[in-house]
Amino acid sequence: MNRSFESIKAKLQQIDGRGYKAYREIAGRWDFPTFTLHIDHVQGDPFAAPSRVRVLISAEVARFEPALYSTLSRTTGICWLLAHRFGEEAHHRSDFRGSGKSGKIQMEAPGQEVLVQTATLIHADGAVEARFTVGLPARGRTVLGQQAAALLLDDLPAIVSASLLSEAYPPKQLWQHVATNEDADALRTTISQCNWIAFVADGAILPRRSGIDDRPLPGNEAIPFASPDSLRQEVELPHAGKISGLAIPEGVILIVGGGYHGKSTLLRAIERGVYNHCPGDGRELVVSQADLVKIRAEDGRSVVGVNISPFINDLPLGQSTTNFSTANASGSTSQAAAIMEALEVGAIGLLIDEDTAATNFMIRDARMQKLVPKEHEPITPLIDRVRQLYTERGVSSILVIGGSGDYLDVADTVLAMHNFAPTDVTAQAQSVAQQQPTQRQSEAVAPLPESLNRRPIPHSIDPSRGKRAVDIKTRGLQRIQFGQENIDLNAVEQLVAWGQTRAIGEAIWYAGQHYFDGQRTLEEVFQQVCEDVERDGLDVLDSRKVGNLARFRKHELAAALNRLRMLRVG
Ligand code: ADP
Ligand code: MG
Repeated sequence: MNRSFESIKAKLQQIDGRGYKAYREIAGRWDFPTFTLHIDHVQGDPFAAPSRVRVLISAEVARFEPALYSTLSRTTGICWLLAHRFGEEAHHRSDFRGSGKSGKIQMEAPGQEVLVQTATLIHADGAVEARFTVGLPARGRTVLGQQAAALLLDDLPAIVSASLLSEAYPPKQLWQHVATNEDADALRTTISQCNWIAFVADGAILPRRSGIDDRPLPGNEAIPFASPDSLRQEVELPHAGKISGLAIPEGVILIVGGGYHGKSTLLRAIERGVYNHCPGDGRELVVSQADLVKIRAEDGRSVVGVNISPFINDLPLGQSTTNFSTANASGSTSQAAAIMEALEVGAIGLLIDEDTAATNFMIRDARMQKLVPKEHEPITPLIDRVRQLYTERGVSSILVIGGSGDYLDVADTVLAMHNFAPTDVTAQAQSVAQQQPTQRQSEAVAPLPESLNRRPIPHSIDPSRGKRAVDIKTRGLQRIQFGQENIDLNAVEQLVAWGQTRAIGEAIWYAGQHYFDGQRTLEEVFQQVCEDVERDGLDVLDSRKVGNLARFRKHELAAALNRLRMLRVG
């Protein structure tokens, strides 16, 4: 069969006015003048999920300079730009053309974080691939052939030309995206070599527009970050050259200061610093070590077989805390479980904000120790474990604490935020701690136990629902429907893209099928899955070549599996 550009035009004319099913005839490959179009999946009707489509452009046509895609770091920066531009162009050019989603061309939009994703790819030979969806136009359930021709033969080539070819961009812009991503990766390597857990560059813009808009607060409203002299370090980056900023050392770090002075904003920037950011974000040079994990209280979650005894002991009714399971955790038990789970998969630092922590998990002050004797209190608060975590395990903590001065006793470094600017108040904090002893008794007697070594039981997770053997869907960023169950990810704050959630949904099942063998520990399973994705790409998780997956960390994969109520471990 002739698969030329003219023949798809003829085909669309031929099916014009027929029932929607006639669109099946345009599935497959078509050769356009400058690219090939692959219609991988044709939707069943105009209201169903839109049709899945890919465009492939040869290196000779795309003409990106090889240096722009010579490393994963560079390619990832460029692919972010291509996806961003494609999305914008599709939004402007694709038209509403009939019922349902008719006429819409849509690509998974990248957010402020620059992630490896599947919407746009540059292959090793320089060929460019774009994956997106189109709503094939209909009136009612009748094919609108003319409209489909306008969509595929006019709109689409225009979008491709404006977003997927080198000539669509000034060379400077392309290099800016390469440089920004490469510098962030270089900075992450440097900070781990220097044993810093995070770096916040001078001049960075940390605040966001709003809780639902992750773009930076406009320049005239935001106060740029300025590091305190005593903690300022200089770093040499491949593109930006010499930069300076706050180098956060290992250990126990407190962020103190008055309410509304920018404490949570700083912590949030650090927690997002495990990812790179796009040019113009303001956090391009706010970079953290890859294995920092945000911890928070999350009452109501499920916990499966976790040793929370370093924090919780002697629960009512003799419930085990060395092998703690519950369908409905409390604030403190959920926070204890989250810490032990994070350690299990190799966290090197914990990030905790008092805004989202359980108070009784964080502190028990001297008066409360008098009133409620230790024998009646199951909780050993974090204040009595946080140093051990560092000295025995090398796990640092950054804690936002505005309310409890007791923590001054256990801190290595104290940063005070005042009017959105940090100062180093470590020395003052130490003298306050000496002058005003708290009288509280340390409650941690034993060393920390061995890390968790849970082994998931084969076949313990079942993705089937009704007639479907595998039914895994995501409902936005924070919900995965896995078989009969919903996994609630609202409290997993370092999950940043819907594409990550989708990939994690698939990865749970992939892990279950390939690596739940009763031998491997959860840590080994997650490590293996992440290695597979790194080596073979996200398509290992979904062979249909979908465009809506993004790279995730083992920590968020672990967080999702840990919240799957059907999980069983040995
Ligand atoms: P805290 O945790 O100390 O109570 P937040 O970090 O929540 O304070 O910040 C309070 C408000 O100030 C937020 O609306 C935040 O966006 C804004 N903000 C934070 N940092 C800056 C800054 N550098 N410049 C301008 N506004 C900021
Ligand atoms: Mg706060």
